[in-house]
Amino acid sequence: MAPPILLWLRQDLRLSDHPALTAAAAKGAIIPLYVLDDDTPGEWRWGGASRWWLHHSLAALGKNLPLVLRKGRADDVIAEVLKQTEATSLHFTRDYAPWSPALESCVKKICDDLNVTCHRHGGFLLHEPEAIKNGSGETYKVFTPFSRACFASGEPRAPKPVPKFEIAKHGLKSDRLDDWQLTPSKPDWAKSFEGHWQPGEQGAQKALASFIDDALEHYADGRDRPDQPLTSRLSPHLHWGEISPHQAWSAIRAAMDRKLGKLDHSAEKFLNEVLWREFSNHLLVLFPDFPTKSYRPEFDDMPWAKSADHLHKWQKGQTGYPIVDAGMRELWATGFMHNRVRMVVASFLIKHLQIDWREGERWFWDTLVDADIANNAASWQWVAGSGADASPYYRIFNPVLQGVKFDPQGDYVKRWVPELKHVSAEFIHAPWNMPNPPADYPAPMVDHAQARTRAMAALASIKKEQA
Ligand SMILES: Cc1cc2nc3c(=O)[nH]c(=O)nc-3n(C[C@H](O)[C@H](O)[C@H](O)COP(=O)(O)OP(=O)(O)OC[C@H]3O[C@@H](n4cnc5c(N)ncnc54)[C@H](O)[C@@H]3O)c2cc1C
Repeated sequence: MAPPILLWLRQDLRLSDHPALTAAAAKGAIIPLYVLDDDTPGEWRWGGASRWWLHHSLAALGKNLPLVLRKGRADDVIAEVLKQTEATSLHFTRDYAPWSPALESCVKKICDDLNVTCHRHGGFLLHEPEAIKNGSGETYKVFTPFSRACFASGEPRAPKPVPKFEIAKHGLKSDRLDDWQLTPSKPDWAKSFEGHWQPGEQGAQKALASFIDDALEHYADGRDRPDQPLTSRLSPHLHWGEISPHQAWSAIRAAMDRKLGKLDHSAEKFLNEVLWREFSNHLLVLFPDFPTKSYRPEFDDMPWAKSADHLHKWQKGQTGYPIVDAGMRELWATGFMHNRVRMVVASFLIKHLQIDWREGERWFWDTLVDADIANNAASWQWVAGSGADASPYYRIFNPVLQGVKFDPQGDYVKRWVPELKHVSAEFIHAPWNMPNPPADYPAPMVDHAQARTRAMAALASIKKEQA
């Protein structure tokens, strides 16, 4: 019997357009292994909402690919499985998290010591960080020239179909997925996620198809409207690798061709957003401390407030600002929040409450189903003004005006803040101006104008220290 090929699955939980699977399957019978490694990422082990998604994604993949599930340090488990099965080669998809280079080198060394060939494949990104560099051979630190360079580098390769594969006969024991207890039980706070998502490759393909059919045409104008379903909601699927960015890219290109240029403006906007994901990952490779340290170091001298009570009110959606509370409650109920509202709630935490951006990043890490080490860190630092190509700190969103502009009738607010269900559009984003505001909804926890003045003083203080 020919020796088996080990396929180590990571954030690539799909069968189609899967370079590592395709290469492994071409060599012989495979053993698909998934390792739940809570040790290697340390403080960045999967948060609660991610674990819920992972459970369902593995369950979906396991229907078509008999998985060997193991818990432990990935390098230890791989060494053990290679020895037990006498596999002659290992295939896996590259990952860009800060702890990955050390893990991947360790796995390579294990393979070398055991005389196993080790193959690392791309597939999570369209462009490897080494492939997109500026004229000086450095990683781009500004998005616009980065995206221009991506477009100029040519079309990403076309996606590939599911390869024919054979599963090796092996005597390995697999953990039972249920025994990992990835889904919450007492209480089951994720119960309400179920109606909103279909984790797994099929769900990812459905999300892409319905986005193209129902929303793409309106994406450029509508992507900032949380009251309307005009974005793709592909982020958790892309994060877990249930769909490759190549598949999304090529489907959008095909739709553009079908509609003979009518979709171009919206479609290009969408492709550009997909490139933000690439940009975040390239920056993370350049600056692996991105999730914990301000890219612009002066921001780490910001006089942050340490109010557990304020943080708690923000997390629970009890700030008294309807658009902020709607976003935080959407997050709690669904594991997701619309991008425009993510920017508003992040700005509110950092600037109105003067709370360190890392507190918000951690909360999102635990509560988002698309929690992604690169996108989350880059986005929080973008809002904080401390990132590479960030929004200036002094751009302080006014939560009332943001609500009026992007949720004009208050439909989004009413969906998530039932206390305001009967408030008219005129007052929905500032209910404290009503003659009789609803008694069960809190008054604003901070005054916008005062908060703005305090935030600007904090900015001035770090500039002064620098001078
Ligand atoms: C404070 C904050 C935290 C965030 N944390 C995360 C996170 O942990 N994980 C995450 O995937 N996104 C994060 N984002 C980015 C963005 O909000 C989500 O990617 C987007 O809302 C996902 O919805 P969608 O799939 O419908 O997006 P669409 O508008 O349909 O965009 C398509 C895809 O492009 C990518 N994308 C879109 N916007 C961005 C962006 N600004 N940065 C990077 N990639 C982007 C995503 O993969 C997304 O699925 C964060 C944004 C903010 C402001």
